[in-house]
Amino acid sequence: MRNVIIIGSGPAGLTAAIYAGRANLQPLVISGLERGGQVTLTNDLENYPGFPNGLGGFEMYQLLEQQAIKFGAEMLYEVVTEVELKGEIKKVKTTDQVYEARTVIVATGSNPKRLGVPGEDQYIGKGVSYCATCDGFFFSGKHVAVIGGGNSALDEGLFLTRFAAKVTIIHRRDRLRADAILQERAQANEKMDFIWDSVVEEVKGQGSVNALKLKNVKTGAITDFPVDGVFVFIGHHPNTDLFAGKLQLDEGGYLVTDRRMRTNLAGVFGCGDVQDSVYRQAITAAGTGCQAAIEAERYIAEHAGKAYPGR
Ligand code: NAP
Repeated sequence: MRNVIIIGSGPAGLTAAIYAGRANLQPLVISGLERGGQVTLTNDLENYPGFPNGLGGFEMYQLLEQQAIKFGAEMLYEVVTEVELKGEIKKVKTTDQVYEARTVIVATGSNPKRLGVPGEDQYIGKGVSYCATCDGFFFSGKHVAVIGGGNSALDEGLFLTRFAAKVTIIHRRDRLRADAILQERAQANEKMDFIWDSVVEEVKGQGSVNALKLKNVKTGAITDFPVDGVFVFIGHHPNTDLFAGKLQLDEGGYLVTDRRMRTNLAGVFGCGDVQDSVYRQAITAAGTGCQAAIEAERYIAEHAGKAYPGR
């Protein structure tokens, strides 16, 4: 019997592990496939407080994990396949085993949405990317397209202008969703231009991406638009498939939590991007991870009188 099982190993899950560890709860962290989560895709985290010279995303994961282990967290590099979260004893199944705990902290994060068009999967890593900081460098002097009209598309598109000769934003409407300040910066950047009212119908290439088949949604016109790469920033999918029908999710599939990181089931908490469609920052994920662990500790203290000794 565990006190706390934390599902996910990004900044939210590992911060929860640090706090739960320091509360002597000896948490079990089940990492999932992508150890460290999305932050590991970031080359250089320049806005994480306390690191004026920046910090590599993977380095951040390693440091967080090290810190969690130091305080008694146990890491399990497995994938959760099923959960039973009702009642006093929660069950978390992996491919190998069933683990039981008084509390569960869900920190499963989110993943970038895909376009779902022919050629997209085939050319991932060969011109199709979901991470400018990871792949931008490979497009030095090239022409890339960015799909989407939100903050991510413009933010990442602006970042890409550091490398690419030209960045074309392709948006399905004639108005951007992004904040005004980003729109102003994008309009003022001479490396950027826009294609409006258009969707990608196919990613084309020969060995690597060389064009996008575009459809103008107003006129119906189909064109082949030559590019060397395409970056897709059309939002994120929270990783909540495991919890469908078991925990309350909102219309976007995000885990619903209250201000104390509680889900609709007693003893089950959520933190990080899985419950946050708005901020999605490493620092906010870490903050909610801290909250979730403190709440799990309180829950155990209130419901069991005291924490279960050890594992
Ligand atoms: P988002 O705000 O949901 O924007 C997604 C964009 O992709 C929208 O313009 C949407 O078009 C378009 N889109 C969605 N599905 C599409 C599809 N199938 N085909 C073509 N286009 C599609 O997502 P986001 O930009 O990732 O931002 C998510 C959150 O993170 C936001 O709250 C944002 O403010 C925040 N964020 C902030 C910053 C920053 O402040 N610097 C940076 C990144 C993200 P429509 O506009 O037509 O819906």
